[in-house]
Amino acid sequence: MAGVRGTITGMAAAALAAWIAMPVAISGQAIPSQTTASPAPPTVMQIVDDLIVANQILTHEAIVDGLGHISVRHPERQDRFLLGRDLAPSLQTGADLVEYDLEGKAVSATPPVGVSERFIHAAIYKARPDVMSVVHAHTPSILAFAVSNIPLRPVYHMATWMLGGTVSGTVPMFEIRKVPGSAGMLVSTNELGTALAQTLGDRPVALLRGHGFVVVGPSIPEAVSRAIFLDVNARVQAQAMALGGSVNMLTSVDAGPLGGQSSGPGQPIVYPRSWWYWKERALGK
Ligand SMILES: [Zn+2]
Repeated sequence: MAGVRGTITGMAAAALAAWIAMPVAISGQAIPSQTTASPAPPTVMQIVDDLIVANQILTHEAIVDGLGHISVRHPERQDRFLLGRDLAPSLQTGADLVEYDLEGKAVSATPPVGVSERFIHAAIYKARPDVMSVVHAHTPSILAFAVSNIPLRPVYHMATWMLGGTVSGTVPMFEIRKVPGSAGMLVSTNELGTALAQTLGDRPVALLRGHGFVVVGPSIPEAVSRAIFLDVNARVQAQAMALGGSVNMLTSVDAGPLGGQSSGPGQPIVYPRSWWYWKERALGK
């Protein structure tokens, strides 16, 4: 993790200076004790650290590889977000983060080359004020459902969030062929990003036909958690269906007191201990 600190395009200079000056390495962060009190809103420094760690976790858990990305809404500017430049997630440091507006335009006058699918993130942040973090990836287990007419649905208890207030939790599918003027498979324009955000609607996850998925959350840890449990759910569903009998899917009856939703923006994730477990595994401590 050497060199994880550095400059961030468009970041407030004071916050950046304080962040660079912090002597504690990411891997050395103490695990906080959990309380029932609402946490303070995250600072720029915290979300930058979490975003770099999230890239390591998502790589280690095989959700992303050389491709795929996670972003976070700027904690001080609701109309901006941070996303790594065109570089494999596991190689990114704070110096590789780019600040964008909600049109997918870099704030800096001389930004590095960005990922072509930054419009996924821009359009979702624009359409969904509740979303604080977005993950897009091409995870093989989920791709199987993105090329099939078998619906991806929640089947086990760590996937109740997939219900998203619906009865069955069937994940919506984005069909890029239906977007006028589209060519190819990449969501590389604002028009395509907007169409994807419309398919997502108010749900926590959507498939992209023949491409992958997008999952959103009220924080970086929760978006990462959802991406990981989405992968587990897809593998379990496929294996259960391969057994040949009937598969007992989750329904809204199984959602519990939170209704399958997260605990809300700025609130602790439902199972916060997993973040620290994944982080320890990813950073090799
Ligand atoms: Zn993609």
